[in-house]
Amino acid sequence: MAPKLRVRVDHVKCVGNAMCTELAPGVFALNDDRQSEARNPAGETLEDILKAAENCPVGAITVEDVETGQRLYPRSG
Ligand code: SF4
Repeated sequence: MAPKLRVRVDHVKCVGNAMCTELAPGVFALNDDRQSEARNPAGETLEDILKAAENCPVGAITVEDVETGQRLYPRSG
């Protein structure tokens, strides 16, 4: 079963290039300020969410497993 995820976008870092909304449109959407928001963390597979996080040019996306608190992206150490 897919883990329940917490997905966050750091709006200080986000430059609104829409890479994440392209790769995982079921999760991310740009708001009126062209900032990405993680509106539905269950909207894509974990694989596609991680792909979006990895491809964010400014590393604005963090992904955590809600149940375990484990950070899935960015990976620590
Ligand atoms: S890929 Fe990163 S910088 Fe681009 S819109 Fe998404 S969060 Fe913002």
